[in-house]
Amino acid sequence: MKLYYYCSSCQKENSFTTKATNRFELQEERGNEINERCTYCGTVNKRHVNRVHAKANTFNMLIGGVLGLLVTVILALIIPKIALFFIAGTIFSLPYLAWRSEEKKASTFNRVLIED
Ligand SMILES: [Zn+2]
Repeated sequence: MKLYYYCSSCQKENSFTTKATNRFELQEERGNEINERCTYCGTVNKRHVNRVHAKANTFNMLIGGVLGLLVTVILALIIPKIALFFIAGTIFSLPYLAWRSEEKKASTFNRVLIED
């Protein structure tokens, strides 16, 4: 998942990717503090794991949207229009479901803090 922090020098938001899905895993992977270099000003930031936050991955949502559209187009070519009408709702809920699952992952991460 993608995690974000603000640079202590230029205050810009930076991100880094990790396999961790919660702060405990992040702590295991990176230790108590994350050392990351700001992509804007080059300052090395030391951030406690509690001070990084997750956001829903818009790229995954986009993939969900594109997939939904693609499936619709393909199905429109091979099945009767009336059948498509009935399953279109399911297909178009794909981006929504992707968004929901992304939001859920991010909020779960943000809710749980490491205790010192
Ligand atoms: Zn910076």
